[in-house]
Amino acid sequence: MATATFRFHGELNDFLAPFRRRAEFTATLARAASAKHMIEALGVPHTEVEAILVNGASVGFEHALADGDRVEVHPRRGLPDVHPLACLRPQLPRPPRFIADAHLGGLARLLRLAGFDTRYDNGIRDDDLVAIALCEGRVVLSRDRELLKRGALIHACFVHALKPERQFAEIVLRLELAAQARPFSLCLACNAPLRSVARAEVLERLPERVRERHECFTTCDGCGRVFWAGSHWRAMRAVLAAAGLERSETEGNDV
Ligand SMILES: [Zn+2]
Repeated sequence: MATATFRFHGELNDFLAPFRRRAEFTATLARAASAKHMIEALGVPHTEVEAILVNGASVGFEHALADGDRVEVHPRRGLPDVHPLACLRPQLPRPPRFIADAHLGGLARLLRLAGFDTRYDNGIRDDDLVAIALCEGRVVLSRDRELLKRGALIHACFVHALKPERQFAEIVLRLELAAQARPFSLCLACNAPLRSVARAEVLERLPERVRERHECFTTCDGCGRVFWAGSHWRAMRAVLAAAGLERSETEGNDV
C-alpha cells in the first residue's frame, strides 16, 4: 500500500481533521493520486493552496504522487523560499472583482464600500454562482468548503471569520487589497458606480436635517439612492481603517 507524508502550513490546518493539524502525518495514497486529489481528499479545497512541495521541489496540482513522497502544502501567506515556485493558477486580476456566496451579504457591502465590484444574491444556487464567477472572472468568496473543491473554480477564497468586519479584514490581508481600494465609489446596496450630484438635483429627496447640514452628495443611477458624509459614513470609514486601508478624503455616504 503506497503512502506519503503530508504537512500543511498556516490556515490550511483549519480544514484538516484535528489529529492531523500542525504536524507531519502519513496518509494512504489513492491509485494514481495527483497532489490536488490527495490535498482535497484530506479536506483542503484547491482554491486555498498556493504552493505544493514534493520532496522539496515545487510542483503543480496534477503532479502524480508516489510511495514515500514527502508533501508540503502552503497557503498564499507564508510561501516557502523555493525557486522556481510553480504557478498553480493564473494571476489574480487587479483590482479583483468578487461574487459572494449566500450569507456573506455583510462582507459584500464592505467590499463595495472599499470600491470592489462585488455581486451578491442571497438566494443564488451554487451552479449559478460558479458559472457567473467563471464567465465574469470573479473571485468566489464562500464559507462552503465543498463548493470551493469544484474543479472549474480558478480564484476563490474560503472565508474563515464569522463577523463581516473580520471577514473583510481577512480578505484585504489575503489578497493584498489595500493599495487598490477606492472607498465610496460604489453603491453599497446595488454595486453600481456612484457619481457626484448637484445639491439642487437631489434636494427634494433629502431629509430636513441633511438639507441643513450637508453640501456634497453622490447618487447611484442603479437604485436612485443619495449618499452624503453623515454618521454612518464615519462609522464605515472606521471599518476601512481597521482593515488597514488608507483613510480617504473622498466623499462618503449615509444610507
Ligand atoms: Zn444603488
